[in-house]
Amino acid sequence: MIWNTLTYTGWGRVRSATAQVARPERTSSLAALQAETAAPAIGMCRSYGDSCLNDGGHAVDMTRMDRLLGFDPDTGILEVEAGARIGDIARRFAPDGWLPSVMPGTGFATVGGCIAHDVHGKNHHGAGSFGQHVVEISLMNGGKLQKVSPSKGVKLFRATIGGMGQTGVIVSAKLQLLPCKGDIMTVTERRIENLEHFLEALDASKSTYTVGWIDATAQGEALGRGILEEAETGYGLVPDAKPSRAVPFNAPRWALATPVVRFFNAAYFRRVPERGRTSVKPITEFFFPLDKLLEWNRLYGKRGFHQFQCVVPVSEAAVLRLMLDKIGSAGLASPLAVLKRMGSGRAGLMSFPMEGYTLAIDFPNRAGAEALIAELEEITEKAGGRVYMAKDATLDPSHLTKMYPDVTKFAKLVSSIDPDGQYETDQTRRLNIRSHA
Ligand SMILES: Cc1cc2nc3c(=O)[nH]c(=O)nc-3n(C[C@H](O)[C@H](O)[C@H](O)COP(=O)(O)OP(=O)(O)OC[C@H]3O[C@@H](n4cnc5c(N)ncnc54)[C@H](O)[C@@H]3O)c2cc1C
Repeated sequence: MIWNTLTYTGWGRVRSATAQVARPERTSSLAALQAETAAPAIGMCRSYGDSCLNDGGHAVDMTRMDRLLGFDPDTGILEVEAGARIGDIARRFAPDGWLPSVMPGTGFATVGGCIAHDVHGKNHHGAGSFGQHVVEISLMNGGKLQKVSPSKGVKLFRATIGGMGQTGVIVSAKLQLLPCKGDIMTVTERRIENLEHFLEALDASKSTYTVGWIDATAQGEALGRGILEEAETGYGLVPDAKPSRAVPFNAPRWALATPVVRFFNAAYFRRVPERGRTSVKPITEFFFPLDKLLEWNRLYGKRGFHQFQCVVPVSEAAVLRLMLDKIGSAGLASPLAVLKRMGSGRAGLMSFPMEGYTLAIDFPNRAGAEALIAELEEITEKAGGRVYMAKDATLDPSHLTKMYPDVTKFAKLVSSIDPDGQYETDQTRRLNIRSHA
């Protein structure tokens, strides 16, 4: 197997790594490779920060191992290689009445990446996290293949889900798909006037899928205003999804200057009529709205961007106002800000979700951005919440134990199966995770 020297980044393009990267196509070549040089796996590098980076080391790109291995139409259980993309699975199975039970906001994420961050979707309040629908994982550690599940090798299973690749390479998995009506979505959008109304509307919603867009530049009475989308799967005919386009160059700095963002956000808010509206869309347009614009991360310019994502308990929702206040007055907000209600579902020791509200927001990588994120992280910790590893590139290691109380258990298990730290990444080194063992 050939190792190629590659310089690559996470989706935010702030951190980069130069590593020896191999792209095996079969389990046999992966096994030979791992027996010789155990190294962390990477998928489509849709994590924003340094979770998929291994600067100066090795990484195994799993995207060629993307085969569908078997599907049982009676149970809805799909066996699939870890490099398969979640959007391709949705497109293939929705017309037959099945969807991945949980889908993140990009269809480019691989099954391995979805397990390794125990991702959540717009139905987290009802369906829980990705890992709760994983029936079995084939895991390779140092060339040795083993199967783990909720009933066999439970400790390793729970450390692998949300485990950031630290237990070895996920080769394939059996996933429980979710019945759906078909491959279209009926989506209702309505304006929400401020944060309090937003939280009430999210709590009151009976829809299977919900997501809120927030105008992070709005202040005062309008702080936290935005648009709530509620959706259900359906069937029928809709126009095909529009073809994807690519962002041809890195956008100039003025494109995300505060007055431009404020103007854009006001127009985006008013795009939905006051009385609201209902439309029908192809599933991919609802679940993966940004995927239409390939390489949209270039809109943040050469220096890239950070995404801050936290979840705070329901009882501490008031801190969201404090956060939005700080964000609005820092003049760093971008149009991309999302608010969702989370249920309690999580499947791994290091899983992100908790019952509460999750806020995700992009910041261009400008002076002051990392200091602002550090303040938001501090507020999150004090509120008993946590920051999402899939988005993180900056978290101070001192927050880890409070945010992730199972980190010691996790670190002990991982250190026992990988004593030389061969599966470590830039993120786990930065966060000093193994030191908790
Ligand atoms: C536009 C956009 C929207 C998003 N929306 C959401 C959302 O709504 N909800 C959500 O939860 N997340 C969301 N994400 C984050 C994304 O779902 C996760 O970061 C996911 O892990 C990306 O998958 P990937 O294949 O690109 O993994 P990578 O980014 O390549 O890797 C992420 C981690 O997974 C590990 N890994 C990858 N493959 C394997 C494998 N085969 N075996 C073992 N470990 C592996 C890597 O070591 C790394 O630690 C979004 C990302 C983008 C860009």
